[in-house]
Amino acid sequence: MLQNLIGKMIIDGAVVAARSPTVEVANPSTGEIIGVVGIASADELERAVRAARAAFRPWADLPAKARSLHLHNLGDAIAADADAMARLMTLEQGKPVNEARGEILKLAETCHFYAEEAARIHGETIPNDSTDFDSTVVREPIGVVGAITPWNYPAELVGWKLCGALAAGCTIVIKPAEITPFTALAIGAKCIEAGIPAGVVNVITGPGSVVGQALVEHKGVDKIAFTGSSAVGLKIQQSATSVKRMALELGGNCPMVVTASADLDAAVAGAARRSFRNCGQICIAINRIYVARSVYDAFVAKLAQAADALRVADGLADPSADLGSMASAEPLAKTRAHLNDAVAKGARLLAGGAAPEGAAFAKGHFFRPTVLADCTHEMLVMTEETFGPIVGVAPFDTLAEAVQKSNDTPYGLASYVYGKDADEIRYLSRRLDYGNVAVNTVDAGIINAPYGGRKQSGVGYEHGREGMLEYMNFKHIRVRYDLPEGA
Ligand code: NAD
Repeated sequence: MLQNLIGKMIIDGAVVAARSPTVEVANPSTGEIIGVVGIASADELERAVRAARAAFRPWADLPAKARSLHLHNLGDAIAADADAMARLMTLEQGKPVNEARGEILKLAETCHFYAEEAARIHGETIPNDSTDFDSTVVREPIGVVGAITPWNYPAELVGWKLCGALAAGCTIVIKPAEITPFTALAIGAKCIEAGIPAGVVNVITGPGSVVGQALVEHKGVDKIAFTGSSAVGLKIQQSATSVKRMALELGGNCPMVVTASADLDAAVAGAARRSFRNCGQICIAINRIYVARSVYDAFVAKLAQAADALRVADGLADPSADLGSMASAEPLAKTRAHLNDAVAKGARLLAGGAAPEGAAFAKGHFFRPTVLADCTHEMLVMTEETFGPIVGVAPFDTLAEAVQKSNDTPYGLASYVYGKDADEIRYLSRRLDYGNVAVNTVDAGIINAPYGGRKQSGVGYEHGREGMLEYMNFKHIRVRYDLPEGA
């Protein structure tokens, strides 16, 4: 699969050779270069946007049922090749193959979910103050979408945009992260295989500051759907050269609150999963945990044990490892910086704190899952998104204090609560200022329900019906009627 995608882009229904295939893509577990991709030139970008524009009207004018069938076919094509696509993702991103396969299968599920939604686009009839009028609101696709995606979930974060946009009747030009372009190119190739018409889906590659920025500034792009850091999201919002719709899914700094009534073992299992899965490179990763003082010591001891029990390995050689390599040197350096900052300010290191030892880990970006106790908001680990396998823990005395500390952040993506007392659950879930509150579970998102951040975590929604309506304009048609002659 990889060989057919090296140095390629997907433009106007074809896998084409990039003019300047100079961006090297490395296997983060070994440092080996696995291939190169192009830096889309102004001409290549133009061809992709033109193809998307030319395909827009015919695609939008298809009966909803036909678009639905295309999306079902895409879901089937992706699921049928899940193993190869998962290995490709692991090769460029580092997560263990089993986890990557899970992500590919969730992408296939997303195709089927939006295939069903595509067939249910309908409008509204709104009462007027006189019965001579009808007000109808119809939904129309926005047009050409520019999608810009990060490297932590290279399939799902493309898929949410691709499927929502296509279901609505939009066409799309995708610019994936420079370190994980091959998964996006493989998805583009699957669109061709599934018979999606030429031009509806295009994938161009290259650095964000050049190619992503050019896509943002392109006047032929009607909407930008971006997932990535808050800093780049803000830059995108400020740098558009014409008015266009924007959805910005940005960074997080997600808290977990463990109350005295919590099932402590369940809370520990949840914390270990959502702090360390994908090496913590998840926008909704648990970054900081506030624990009721009466159960604090027991909780931190158990969490350290759970972290120590996790197996770190090359995710290609060991598909069922708990953690693979981090995706690049950058998040690893930030993890080390947050660790050093916390320890220097008095945090207690209870687990991890270093790379695993041995020749197998020498060339990759590996790090042991790390637990820090007695953390304060003076420490970066509690106030900045680390995007690494590290979590800070602190005690609290009152629920009001837990809420105050949880909300003490410019971010508002996801939050977590473990507790059995219904009054505690209600108190916390109503007051946590986040787009998602997950209670007694750490799987905050499901494809059927809207997912999105507030404050500096972004604007707009993915998932659910809302994730498709983001790609639609509403049109109000108001008609005045007269009595027909002879009535
Ligand atoms: P990033 O912002 O550095 O890059 C994201 C994408 O933007 C990449 O494709 C990059 O090439 C492109 N880009 C960079 N500069 C650009 C510019 N000037 N104009 C246009 N495009 C540009 O983010 P990252 O390091 O790839 O991803 C990690 C971040 O993504 C974290 O902050 C994480 O929280 C966030 N994230 C958010 C969600 C969510 O749903 N809210 C999901 C996953 C990741």
